[in-house]
Amino acid sequence: MAVRNIDVSTLEKWIAEKKTFLVDYRADWCPDCRRIDPAYEQLAEQYAGALEMVTLDLGGDRGMFKTAGVQRIPTLRLFVDGVNVGETVEPESKAVIEDFLAGVLPRMKKENDDRHVYDMVIVGGGPGGYTAALYAARAGLDAVVLEKLSAGGQMAQTHQIDNYPGFPDGVEGWELAQHMQRQAERFGAKTVIAQVTGVDLSVNPKKIETSEGTMFAKTVVLATGANPRELGVAQEKELVGRGVAYCAACDGMFYRGKTVVVVGGGDTAATDALLLSRIARKVYLVHRRDTLRATKIYHEQLEKAENVEFCWDSVVAEILHGEKVTGIRVRNVKNGEEREIAAEGVFISVGRKPATELFAGQVELDAGGYIVAGETTVTSVPGVFAVGDVRTKGLRQVVTAVADGALAVHSAEEYLAEHA
Ligand code: NAP
Repeated sequence: MAVRNIDVSTLEKWIAEKKTFLVDYRADWCPDCRRIDPAYEQLAEQYAGALEMVTLDLGGDRGMFKTAGVQRIPTLRLFVDGVNVGETVEPESKAVIEDFLAGVLPRMKKENDDRHVYDMVIVGGGPGGYTAALYAARAGLDAVVLEKLSAGGQMAQTHQIDNYPGFPDGVEGWELAQHMQRQAERFGAKTVIAQVTGVDLSVNPKKIETSEGTMFAKTVVLATGANPRELGVAQEKELVGRGVAYCAACDGMFYRGKTVVVVGGGDTAATDALLLSRIARKVYLVHRRDTLRATKIYHEQLEKAENVEFCWDSVVAEILHGEKVTGIRVRNVKNGEEREIAAEGVFISVGRKPATELFAGQVELDAGGYIVAGETTVTSVPGVFAVGDVRTKGLRQVVTAVADGALAVHSAEEYLAEHA
């Protein structure tokens, strides 16, 4: 059942009629909105008859955001008998939406509480995870991908990928993720939208606790990727959604015609600054050294962009703000001089941290928290493999993640042959 989209007048009519419903305020350009779509569809089916779930497209018009009283999207707002009883903003998983609804409605029954033992459970649906799923399914393995929201991981939030072979004009990260999922599923791989809450990798079959129930597997592929790293300045977290952002592709549209700061000097900072230079009036790129770490091709593009100004040898000493961000105070690390830059947005693009909290103490991690695994993707635990950005490796790219996915299945087949 497809979730239907309503307009503002229908919303107002339903409120006047005292209806009970959940509305997802969204926009087509918003990557975070698209990411929750599959989970939202599934929940609409789960709650069919108990709760009507709809979307309302706000487009790119700030006026619509104001009228709706929405600051960030997606915002899921619940109306009970026509009364707004609460909302969840940018939910990070299907489980977060369920927890939000559970405060008001009875919980729906979970489907996966059985003792079925999969040949392979793949934790994470990024490029590494879905390539493992593709190779596993083609090898006749009974494989399932557990993804908390939708396919693609970090890749799905990348505006344009130009260094993945086969796409001469580049490809949008979201689109590539959808292709990878469909390709794996064409050969029989399954996807369960579920938040993994714990694992026991020391037993056989291995046990994976999820928001959809407990799952069991002969082999496990850890493909949880990495999340944006925080800068560590005061008030950074409190100001998220009020001027501080970690994803230019997701939040850039809010800064049309405004002044923004991008912090960092790697590929993420460079591509974020380039994307924002096409939206914002002015972009300051603040980097703590006097050269970028980013790939050369981006240096030239950034230097050509007339509205990009570099602040070399500089760190953010303070994020200036009232209710919203008003600018930053930067400190020159060479001479200690400080100055203020007025800006409405601060995009933090200083690298990533691996998503390995759930696996600490179970598989060997390096000092940076990455899972120790070589090209075979074999970890310290037999039958457990690590692919993509989450493992120790020299180059974290889509192309290296997909290679890992194939290698993990090759290694898993060897393991299964020995442990049949
Ligand atoms: P990265 O390459 O690790 O770069 C992080 C940047 O942030 C560095 O310039 C670093 O400065 C700076 N930084 C780190 N901590 C900081 C702090 N506390 N304060 C100020 N600056 C700080 O991370 P990334 O740019 O997110 O890229 C991660 C991986 O994804 C890379 O392998 C990259 O190639 C890949 N990627 C590829 C593309 C693409 O090809 N299109 C796009 C995005 C990402 P220093 O330079 O001084 O260390």
